[in-house]
Order: sequence, then C-alpha cells, then structure tokens
Amino acid sequence: MRILLAEDDAIIADGLSRSLRQGGYAVDWAANGLDAEAALLTVDYDLLILDLGLPKLGGLEVLKRLRARNSPLAVLILTALDGTGDRVKGLDLGADDYMVKPFDLAELEARVRALTRRSAGKTPTIQCGALVYDQVGRMAQLDGQTLDLSARELGLLEVLLSRMGRLVSKDQLVDHLCGWGGEVSHNAIEVYVHRLRKKLEVGGVKIATMRGLGYCLERNQAD
Ligand code: CA
Repeated sequence: MRILLAEDDAIIADGLSRSLRQGGYAVDWAANGLDAEAALLTVDYDLLILDLGLPKLGGLEVLKRLRARNSPLAVLILTALDGTGDRVKGLDLGADDYMVKPFDLAELEARVRALTRRSAGKTPTIQCGALVYDQVGRMAQLDGQTLDLSARELGLLEVLLSRMGRLVSKDQLVDHLCGWGGEVSHNAIEVYVHRLRKKLEVGGVKIATMRGLGYCLERNQAD
C-alpha cells in the first residue's frame, strides 16, 4: 500500500509518515501542491492524504485536477478547524473522507485502513491455503495462529496477496515498499522475502522465486 502525503507542515508530515510506515505503508511526502500533482501523475498510489492549505497549488485544486483526470484514487482531506467551507467543497469535489486538525493519530490510521480497503473494492479477508489475511485489521493468520510479522513483511505480504498467483517483480516490490527515499534495495527485498517465506512455509503456503523475474505467491492447489 503506497500513500502520498501532501502536507506542508514538516512536523505533522514527519510524525504522520513515521507512524504510517511503522504500520507497513509506503509513504511519499509532497510539501506543496505542485509536487503532489507531479507525484500523482507518475506514481500509482492507493491513497492520497491531502492538506488543503498547501503552497504553490492549493489542496482543492490538486483534488479538482485529480478528479478531472477521472482518477478513482481514495482521498482523505486534512483540514484546519476553521475550514468548514473548504471541507464541504472538498467532499463536493470527490474527497472520500476528511479529518480536522489537530487529529487523533489512531483515528486517522483507522480511516486510512478503511479507505485503502474500500478503494481497492476489497473483501475483508483474503485466503491463500492455510493463510487468511484480514485486510481491515491488517492481520495474518496461518492455520488459525496469528502470524508475527514486521511492518516490512506485512507490506510485502499485502503486495503478494493482491497479485496472488501472478508474478511480482522486485522492482514492483521496491516501488510498493519504499517511499521516495529509496531505502529498500533489491537485497533487502530478498531478505524480507526469505523471512516471510520461512513464516509461511510451515503452513504450506509458498512464495515461489522466478529466477531473475521476481516472486509469486502460489495459490493453494485445492483452491
Ligand atoms: Ca497546510
């Protein structure tokens, strides 16, 4: 799950990106409206968290242009307490949800979960053999036992599950797991895959390596 955070307040952006990354999301930060628009044009995001008071290009204009391009991307507006008019305009322009600053982090994370799930039109759980993944709670169970996964492993599993039975290249994984900082290397991906594979194989769930191409979470034969 990759999120674009358009927010000019560096302190809010830093705190929010950090907590979302800890939750296994890949987060890109844009500090003004023009950078946000440029990112939206080049990267395939799962959610946009949009501050309305942005320099260079206002949040409402970013949203307007996004919808003018017929993008179905889920948008969560972050707005100052006094911006009632803007909030209404934002919803009219096709935002999916909004939160008023200062906001409660746990509530924002809950709304992010709901929006990313809804945006992909997903069912609450995905099953792959003995593996059951709860997309709402973002929890994986193997043979009924909750799996202990790191944020990266969780992010990796989500990408593999969303393309179950299909090849996922290392580049695609890097793309989904890192922000603009590019802190995830191909070697790191191999390490995360190795760890995740170990945790899944005890339940008979297999991550196949397609040499030189990438990985594939194999559907259970019985499915
Ligand atoms: Ca602002």
